[in-house]
Amino acid sequence: MAEIKTTISDIKLFIENLHSDMPEVFEKKNSNSKTPSTRNKVLYMGDVYDVKISANPEKNTSCEFIDDIFHINLKDNTQNPSKIVETWLREKANEILKQKIDVFAQKMELEYNRLVIKDQKTVWGSCSEKSNINLSYRLIKMPENVIDYLVLHELAHLVHLNHSSDYWDIVEKYCPDHKRFRKWLNNNKVSLFDNAKLKYVKEKDPYLNPPKEEVAKEVKPAQEQAPTSIADSLPEEITETIPEMDNILDDDDTVKDIEGIVEI
Ligand SMILES: [Zn+2]
Repeated sequence: MAEIKTTISDIKLFIENLHSDMPEVFEKKNSNSKTPSTRNKVLYMGDVYDVKISANPEKNTSCEFIDDIFHINLKDNTQNPSKIVETWLREKANEILKQKIDVFAQKMELEYNRLVIKDQKTVWGSCSEKSNINLSYRLIKMPENVIDYLVLHELAHLVHLNHSSDYWDIVEKYCPDHKRFRKWLNNNKVSLFDNAKLKYVKEKDPYLNPPKEEVAKEVKPAQEQAPTSIADSLPEEITETIPEMDNILDDDDTVKDIEGIVEI
């Protein structure tokens, strides 16, 4: 990417898709109720995809996009498709986040030591005194601009291992819209942390296993929903304030980025 862009079209699209496909994400946003359903859905790079699962022992286990549908083939129909999707997302995260961090490190003229892709349950990423960076594989579900923000957020910790105003000056320089992305993260954290819930239904008998149970309903075009800005979907208290984050240094001098999970 020649330049870090901060357009929000991808994010708007994700929000709109969530509104049409998973309205419960928004209805339960401010409650402590159960996480929203992602049944028969896969989130990837800012979009919500319907899933079709087939079982063909003559083909390898695989995941691929065909006409905007996420197809999973099970070599063995006892395999858990949710686990297969998680493995696929982790592989994509490894590939894409490693490419991105090198691009941004070069742009910011910074050097990191090691990148590890993890599944950290309460953070998006962390940076240590030894210049090691960890990122959650769940970043791969986010719109690309948000992924870019989180990658450069961790790289900026190579300069300041804290969230001081000097630190945010660096983030601001490379990502002027970072506050918007942080709000988006907070607003979408539940669906980002929810795992895909997928179930294979045998195709043999269409009467016993009606197709509607195999394939989720068709994706509705985004135009059917009124466009929704990020600000519109944010609760007041989040729109107004971004809490201080001065208590996040661990004993091991590791900055753990809890933003979007707890603090903001
Ligand atoms: Zn941070």
